[in-house]
Amino acid sequence: MNTQVRISAQTSVVGVIGDPVRHSLSPIIHNAGFRSLGVDWVYVAFEVAGDKTADSLAALRTLHLRGLSVTMPHKTEMARLVDRSSAAAITLRSVNTVEVASDGALVGHSTDGQGLMQNLRSHGVRLENSSVLVIGAGGAGRSVIDALTRHGCVHVTVANRSLEAAEFAVGFAPGGSRAISLSDEPALRRATQECDLIIHATSMGMGETGSEPVLPMPMDMLQQRHIVVDLVYHPLNTALLRAADEKGCQIVNGLGMLVHQAALQQEIWTGHLPDIQEMLSAASQALS
Ligand code: NAP
Repeated sequence: MNTQVRISAQTSVVGVIGDPVRHSLSPIIHNAGFRSLGVDWVYVAFEVAGDKTADSLAALRTLHLRGLSVTMPHKTEMARLVDRSSAAAITLRSVNTVEVASDGALVGHSTDGQGLMQNLRSHGVRLENSSVLVIGAGGAGRSVIDALTRHGCVHVTVANRSLEAAEFAVGFAPGGSRAISLSDEPALRRATQECDLIIHATSMGMGETGSEPVLPMPMDMLQQRHIVVDLVYHPLNTALLRAADEKGCQIVNGLGMLVHQAALQQEIWTGHLPDIQEMLSAASQALS
């Protein structure tokens, strides 16, 4: 069904909190999803400073919002503030979705990792017995590592600027996985040689204009057999993906993950899965 939402006094409101958030594609993606479901819901963006996460929950209660998406820099703090959390959100100490449960409790979820897994599946990427290099160990990186482990991946190398964060994140990976510093070039080269899939999950390259390409690793390490995935979706065709494409690698951009994790959020809020294709085409149109 593709009915136009008519906003009224009955309309349910949800939104994303983040800073920055004005570039966010989430309102376009989510409103396309709500239209596909034919429900009287609307999704907006709230710019909320990093130290105001708790205030946003007070606002949710006061304004009777039906839920929230949570993005940088609020995911970790939100995990501490919600009344209860899904198993994944507790393990990851990261919440990207707040649900208002029927008893009024605020429940935290993490849909990023599962969103990426569904997107990879739609691109024909098989994860069983795979060996993966994940660059980045923030909320998104941890969520992806946890999901990879649940989907049959057998080895992960986590490369991160801060080795301490990489060591924490590798705790979500299969036994025998490794944490390395992103600046340890010999270790990064070895990890690249040993892996099938490279997933970039840092915020490097976010908002990149193209004049100064931002690359998370030396491009001579890439080989044609690698599948290269970038979580960054602004811009869509990042310097990493352009370089990987030139090498003949299969590439996957961040938009599909954004759409799939949003669809999972709508399922949590409304109990129904929206139309992925309609959400994807609304996002692609907005970007073109
Ligand atoms: P986060 O929790 O703030 O983590 C940021 C990550 O980036 C950390 O690993 C951090 O390393 C690293 N980093 C930041 N600046 C860096 C630099 N100058 N050099 C090297 N590493 C740097 O953020 P997040 O939520 O994980 O998000 C990470 C990226 O994923 C963002 O670009 C976000 O937009 C994207 N994302 C995409 C989707 C999607 O659906 N496509 C979903 C979620 C996130 P340190 O630990 O050393 O600080």
